[in-house]
Amino acid sequence: MKYFLAIIGGGPAGYTAAEKASKAGKDVILFEQTALGGTCLNVGCIPTKSLLYGAKQYYNATHAQKYGVTAENVAFDFAAMQKRKTIVVRKLVAGIKARLNNEHCTVVNGFAKVEKRSDELVTISCNGQLYEAQYIMICTGSTNFVPPIPGIKDNPAIWDSTDALAAAELPKSIIIVGGGVIGMEFATLYHELGVPVTVIEAMPTILPNLDPEVVQILLDKYRKAGINILTNTKVEKIEGNEVFVSSLSEADQSNIPSFSAERILVSVGRRANLQGLEALNDIELNRGAIVIDEFCKTNLPNVYACGDVTGKIMLAHVASRQAEVAVGRMLKQIPLQRIAYNAIPSVVYTNPEIASVGITESQAAEMSIPVEVKKLPMTFSGRFMAENEGETGLCKMILDAKNHSVLGVHCIGNPCSEFISAASFAVRNGYTAAELEQVVFPHPTVSEILHEIL
Ligand code: NAD
Repeated sequence: MKYFLAIIGGGPAGYTAAEKASKAGKDVILFEQTALGGTCLNVGCIPTKSLLYGAKQYYNATHAQKYGVTAENVAFDFAAMQKRKTIVVRKLVAGIKARLNNEHCTVVNGFAKVEKRSDELVTISCNGQLYEAQYIMICTGSTNFVPPIPGIKDNPAIWDSTDALAAAELPKSIIIVGGGVIGMEFATLYHELGVPVTVIEAMPTILPNLDPEVVQILLDKYRKAGINILTNTKVEKIEGNEVFVSSLSEADQSNIPSFSAERILVSVGRRANLQGLEALNDIELNRGAIVIDEFCKTNLPNVYACGDVTGKIMLAHVASRQAEVAVGRMLKQIPLQRIAYNAIPSVVYTNPEIASVGITESQAAEMSIPVEVKKLPMTFSGRFMAENEGETGLCKMILDAKNHSVLGVHCIGNPCSEFISAASFAVRNGYTAAELEQVVFPHPTVSEILHEIL
């Protein structure tokens, strides 16, 4: 049988594309070597959020005095948290399986390899069988990058995020190399469960891609709470449980200090997975990721790529949106849709959460866009005051200085992840401050900050 579309990879990009193309009546085959749901569902977004929620319950119970509540003998059971996480993941994976089944999409469990390609036909092998399709979509995702630091390879003390999620027991102490999104979310998890945490970040700040003022609020809170965060710090080598570092800001490097912990989590970014695609030797790559156009088409006419493998923005919601756009283009659905890369929201699940969309002040300066910056502590929201004792939070809005359209919104304060989509809507549709001002936000909600700030 010749399929219309063969998809390699069953993460948010792959399963979204499979469902959409199958729904449109096309014969679709999807190959997945492990479990449907990909990194996000199995070893990323969902398991981390499940564990973080458990940690937050414990943390809130032990910090409830500020709300007039005293809880004694509060304890947690890490094994039970892990068990719940596994059940949440299992249910969601089963949900995806059922959805693909309902659409009569063929799912093959195994490692798929592209054997050959012409502009009319792609041949793929999997589990010793050959499959043919008119189009192929590469949704193979990414894996944790292992930096060339001496002492990482074959060191049993080293974890990546997948190891950390699978661990049956909490580490007694942990060093996290890389203060990016993964690093800071795990720092939150371990800190809230009472594990001593050290974060080592090479750049001058943690979360270097986010608004520095927003990040500073988190940094100050976490340092005050006892998380040891070293910035501008380079890891020279690792010996067993000991991490040797040097400061990137000091000239005197004669005395290399070291830190030790039971575990060392390395979270310094992810790289595109290109295994099995060797036959596509004429596909265009940029820094190890597949180059795509605005419709997720590669330079090869019948080859599309979506998700982390494109190295665009490694977020599940970008992957699934790319898949929608790609299938629309493949099916020539008019009007053709595009992705508003300028309005992709992102969230860091620290405590407090950070949520942002659009450009920051410094990105505007790099792009020579004159902007007006509005700022307001979250405490201007009554709901925030009622529920966030001792926190100030911050909301920043970046407006185009000429026409006052909303170019970016950057927030820290719970639960900003739940209302950043309103800001995405404004950025995506080019709302001006005056137009946003006419939107009514429910009272009392923290989302009102988007109105108060104007
Ligand atoms: P990242 O790029 O967010 O952060 C990596 C950090 O490591 C950077 O701050 C970098 O400066 C630092 N670094 C690099 N080499 C270093 C070294 N040798 N020593 C010390 N620091 C070093 O990457 P990540 O945290 O691994 O996350 C990977 C991807 O997954 C990202 O694209 C991220 O957006 C995505 N992700 C998203 C979420 C979310 O949306 N909530 C959660 C987890 C991961």
